[in-house]
Amino acid sequence: MKKIVKDKLPSLWEQLSSQATLFLPVEQDGVVNFAPWEEGDSVNLEALNTVVPPKNVVFPQTETYMRFKVENDKLHIEPFEQNGPYVLFGARPCDVAGITLLDKVFLQEPEDGLYSRRRREGTVISVACNEPDAACFCTSFELEPGMAPGADIMVWDMGDYLLWKAQSEKGEKLTGSVENLLQEAAEEEQKAAMELKERVTAKEAAAAQEMGWDPSGVKETLKDMFDSDIWEQFFRRCLGCGICTYICPTCHCFDIQDYSKDQEGGRFRCWDSCMFADFTLMGSGENPRPTRKERVRQRFMHKLCYYPSNFGLYACVGCGRCVRKCPVNLDIAQVIKEVGGVKSGSE
Ligand code: SF4
Ligand code: SF4
Repeated sequence: MKKIVKDKLPSLWEQLSSQATLFLPVEQDGVVNFAPWEEGDSVNLEALNTVVPPKNVVFPQTETYMRFKVENDKLHIEPFEQNGPYVLFGARPCDVAGITLLDKVFLQEPEDGLYSRRRREGTVISVACNEPDAACFCTSFELEPGMAPGADIMVWDMGDYLLWKAQSEKGEKLTGSVENLLQEAAEEEQKAAMELKERVTAKEAAAAQEMGWDPSGVKETLKDMFDSDIWEQFFRRCLGCGICTYICPTCHCFDIQDYSKDQEGGRFRCWDSCMFADFTLMGSGENPRPTRKERVRQRFMHKLCYYPSNFGLYACVGCGRCVRKCPVNLDIAQVIKEVGGVKSGSE
């Protein structure tokens, strides 16, 4: 393992940004989000979760992928490529797990070309969480706050320095390119990082235990709950704002739209939300999910029943964003508890 002293981080940002677009958690007006780094940016590696997850980097909120124009009565179509190599530095382990879940959807056959190119061109560096907050519950989905197996490089914040471990070929390559800024980590420093990792996992698992819930059997329970009255109690509170889906690192639905002006235009895709009335509205005017009841049910059934049936994993990584941000406190943790994901003996 290597280490980098924090005094050298500005040099690291400069060096990385000279070889690729460097996305870092940048604080602006008290809000931290991933953005392409520019000199003078206020980098915040301590913020637990950015408001918008870094899925924005691998699956942009809006992405133009084709342009067209009419010239001499002929239609010309050109693919629009805006990709290039990038480094995503500072994704938390839950958000890296979120990207792994997106991979399962977008990289299955037939592969999504836009997404797979972005994934190929990027190197993901994850920073372990030293102090998850009360809304975090990644351990409930068998993830570890101190380890991201899907990251190319794993980094632990040890105070004055970051411990650095390459975990893939891409990670090794990037490590080699900034070797001048890294030092070999001593054995006791590596041991301290692993102890920290175990401590943090145990702490978060104990907090989840205290919440008295266990999502592991929820998939089976939900299979028989499509027509349950339980959805009545949830949907009445929902405002249909869609915030929960936009800030969720695992939500991946998108819409495709064309725009045009005079003789030219383009086609783009943008995030969509199953919480919106027109999400399933058909050209005929039919809508199989006509009320918020069907839409709320779909959101939770998809994450906790359909996705796990298709891919073997829950489509939630316990990042806690929907717990923190839903304006009416209708979050997945509560739904899991209500549908029966409560440990026996708990309230
Ligand atoms: S954030 Fe809350 S209120 Fe808004 S759509 Fe999601 S569940 Fe409904
Ligand atoms: S459902 Fe909520 S807690 Fe789970 S990954 Fe999405 S935003 Fe995070």
